[in-house]
Amino acid sequence: MSDKSNHLQTQAVRTTAPERLLLHMCCGPCAEYPLEQLRQQGYQVSGYFYNPNIHPQQEWETRLANVRRLAELKNLTVYENSDYREQQWRDYGCTARSGQCQICYALRMNEAARFAAQRGYKLFTTSLLVSPYQNYEAIVRTASLAARRYGVSFLKQDFRPGYRKGQEMAKADGLYRQKYCGCIFSLGETNPKYRDRYLERFGLNLAELPQRLTEQ
Ligand code: SF4
Repeated sequence: MSDKSNHLQTQAVRTTAPERLLLHMCCGPCAEYPLEQLRQQGYQVSGYFYNPNIHPQQEWETRLANVRRLAELKNLTVYENSDYREQQWRDYGCTARSGQCQICYALRMNEAARFAAQRGYKLFTTSLLVSPYQNYEAIVRTASLAARRYGVSFLKQDFRPGYRKGQEMAKADGLYRQKYCGCIFSLGETNPKYRDRYLERFGLNLAELPQRLTEQ
């Protein structure tokens, strides 16, 4: 091979070097489809589990174990943040319905942006963008502000068309698929058929669940 063709090859490798991207993972099933898409788009993806809002701790541990299982199946590096502040979550007295929750988005997106910057990632996004039950615009707005604050970029990508596919992938991979968003308020708001099963599993009574301060 001539010197010239060697040079061209080197150039090609440089220009196609994958861009590193940090994927905030709200849970395993929601991360399935975004992870597949991002890899197909050529990103070098690592995950970040940071969800201090999940109630109760037993559920938080189950979701983390699920993320670990996905990481193993997909050969994905996942950073874990063990911050857990469920009591504080109740004290926030959330006022929005499930999937409209600014405090929750702000806390997680700020931490994801901070962590991305600290680890040298220029770009981050979140698996929350796959869920039709979340507030897409609010997540994008909050994450973009967080990105600016920490000097990184937020990848706005609408994964929602792949939500069902992602759930099917999670099922095929044997992942646990939870029936509520995460916090104690959302546990109380979920379909009573599932809610009562969770309450029994967690040894809780309905009367123990706090109500949101204001219905919007
Ligand atoms: S329902 Fe709870 S866990 Fe879900 S986004 Fe709102 S505050 Fe966060």
